[in-house]
Amino acid sequence: MEQLDALVADGTTYMGTSHRQATVRNKVGEVREGLNALFSLPDGYEVLLGNGGTTTFWDAATFQLISHHSQHLSFGEFSSKFAAAVKSAPHLSDPQIIESEVGSHPMAEANDEVDLYALTHNETSTGVMMEIQRPPGAKGLVAVDATSGAGGLMVDPTQFDCYYFAPQKSFASDGGLWLALCSPAAIERIESLAAADRWTPASLDLKIALDNSRLNQTYNTPALATIHLLASQIKWMNDNGGLSFSSGRSRQSAEILYTWAEASDFATPFVSNPAHRSKVVGTIDFRDDIDATLIAKILRANGVVDTDPYRKLGRNQLRIAMFPAIDPEDVASLLACVNYVVGHL
Ligand SMILES: *Cc1c(COP(=O)(O)O)cnc(C)c1O
Repeated sequence: MEQLDALVADGTTYMGTSHRQATVRNKVGEVREGLNALFSLPDGYEVLLGNGGTTTFWDAATFQLISHHSQHLSFGEFSSKFAAAVKSAPHLSDPQIIESEVGSHPMAEANDEVDLYALTHNETSTGVMMEIQRPPGAKGLVAVDATSGAGGLMVDPTQFDCYYFAPQKSFASDGGLWLALCSPAAIERIESLAAADRWTPASLDLKIALDNSRLNQTYNTPALATIHLLASQIKWMNDNGGLSFSSGRSRQSAEILYTWAEASDFATPFVSNPAHRSKVVGTIDFRDDIDATLIAKILRANGVVDTDPYRKLGRNQLRIAMFPAIDPEDVASLLACVNYVVGHL
């Protein structure tokens, strides 16, 4: 709400201006510096951005982040999609894909052939989070899809080379942009692949994105409102204490959610290992005789929207967002609503 008010307040001098001019470039600069502070990035790490969201970043990574061979932990819809994008790239070898049952996550395995390990901080489709750690003994780059996790989960930047995300989840902004926190090793990879003899479409060229990002620009015109909303959210996180504050909000919401589910006689956390239960997206199974779809429908009819599970998972489940912008008290209120609805079915 305050994010939107801030955008409206700046609206007449900001919206519609050129992204090559100072007004917008200063906003992009705020985003880049804000993320640098939020994640306490070590010296030499840089914040890159470009248009197209996370899905586009996967395609860019197939051109200029993976040299030849990647390893993917596949444990849900999103992590499987990056693996699929690599598999279809004719210039890369078939990726090594390590899978685990939905509701859990596999572990990466060091392999000398692998030049990029693709991890996912939070698998949004199943509500499984994983701790981000370099696989012991691994020499390749560690790239992390943090689209829903970034800002809502703690992370140690020395454990990754590329931590990429889009602003529409934990950053409570809008979609269509990708951001990538890159280590010196990732930047070196981008520069060496750009110099190599591999055809790359300009819009997916990470070297072009790198050069533009250093000037606080994007290669082509970005959605200005998305950048403004994102800058406000990052500022709010930093002003209140940074990542420990923002991830603390999600942790508090998660504690409320899972404590409720464990105590409930009709709801159980879908993810059995408590350490893998996501603090940003909670998945809750319901007893067979209670139709979760009906609960979601009744909630929606009463203005409580988007508690639906990930459709393809096919479970009798609700999925609850617990991003930092969501007040933990609102999660408690939502659960009171669920109790009420179930009691009146
Ligand atoms: C939402 C999401 C994506 C897709 O993001 P887009 O910006 O829509 O491409 C990818 N990965 C994860 C983990 C997500 O949650």
